[in-house]
Amino acid sequence: MSRKLMIAGNWKLHLTVEEAVALANAIASGLSRDDLDVLLIPGFLALEPVALSLSTSPVLVGGQNLFWEDQGAYTGEVSGPQLKAAGARYVLVGHSERRQYFGESERTCCLRLNAALKAGLRPILCVGETQAEREAGRTEGVLESQLAGGLAGLEAAQMASVTVAYEPVWAIGTGLTATEEQAAEAHAHIRAWIGSRFDKGVANSTRILYGGSVNPANAAGLLNQPEVDGALVGGASLKAESFLGIIQAA
Ligand code: PGA
Repeated sequence: MSRKLMIAGNWKLHLTVEEAVALANAIASGLSRDDLDVLLIPGFLALEPVALSLSTSPVLVGGQNLFWEDQGAYTGEVSGPQLKAAGARYVLVGHSERRQYFGESERTCCLRLNAALKAGLRPILCVGETQAEREAGRTEGVLESQLAGGLAGLEAAQMASVTVAYEPVWAIGTGLTATEEQAAEAHAHIRAWIGSRFDKGVANSTRILYGGSVNPANAAGLLNQPEVDGALVGGASLKAESFLGIIQAA
């Protein structure tokens, strides 16, 4: 089964609304391919203006996080329906920075992932081991428990809307990238896990992105791995030239 590549740019806590719209426009106007999905993930304030400025472009927009309740007395939170109404199609769930700095647990990832599906958003569940976990030989176990936690209770049919991102924590924002072999191995493990949790068909159709210091120079090698279905890019997505370079290399 062929899986469409996705190149996603996670802008994290960067860019004003004006800067975000300008970058989105520069990326959309420089895009010369329509055989892959391009997704931009701005901060919440810029999401709707970016989505509006991309309304005639194939470039998609996503949120960096969402809360699991649709509405209520939850000061400071953003819900799935709000993201959807603002133009988001995708949303990240369980990015390692959320797990590391904001107490995200497997249970809250699962609540957020279900809230995304309920709102008609496509969640991108981020999983990945730390350096210490890799050195202790625990990579596969960590991936399995993050997958099992985030996808707890999910039906096979719902997996059609779910993307997984393998992001080794030690490679995020560090300039260190997983080798092509390390990425291929982790992706194969994730796909095998999905196959045993759901079925082979689900495993073969689930898109698994790689994230962690992807740049125009290393993108081709990583994306050439048959198990790697795209990239989730942080730092290199903040300049149109480097993000377009990754798209070109894919
Ligand atoms: P990076 O971030 O490309 O800056 O390593 C990736 C991510 O956190 O999604």
